[in-house]
Amino acid sequence: MAELFQLQIITPDKKFYKGEAQMVELITTEGQIGVYARHIPLTAVVAPGVLRIHEKEGVKEAALMSGFLQVMPDQVTIMAEVAEWPEEIDANRAKEAKTRAERRLQSHDAELDVSRAELALKRALVRLEVGK
Ligand code: ATP
Repeated sequence: MAELFQLQIITPDKKFYKGEAQMVELITTEGQIGVYARHIPLTAVVAPGVLRIHEKEGVKEAALMSGFLQVMPDQVTIMAEVAEWPEEIDANRAKEAKTRAERRLQSHDAELDVSRAELALKRALVRLEVGK
């Protein structure tokens, strides 16, 4: 059986998660990463994506939007700006955010901040995936 490590996920307003995990998967600005116990020390910047916590009993999913990942041999910490469990996600709000972002990206507005609209679209898509 896979070795366990301590995983802690902190958001500005609460301790989002604290427990023992076999593996945690998330998206960083460098791409997808899967962290097991005894991973080499690492820091990374979190990008919007589905967070999967592989516990002994099963897999927990959440939406993770931004923050920092810090990996130490027996302890992994995610300092998240925004993290949501499926039951916390308002699917209608995410659908509206998706439509808004898509409309902006299709407009030919010279003032449009494209990367901001793309990130908003990505957050909405992650919420829709986790919340379904
Ligand atoms: P919106 O345009 O709907 O505000 P957003 O992607 O800009 O979405 P964020 O900046 O990622 O929103 O988050 C701002 C706050 O709103 C956070 O506390 C986040 O948890 C909450 N939030 C945003 N969208 C949702 C949603 N669909 N369901 C539940 N909470 C949400």
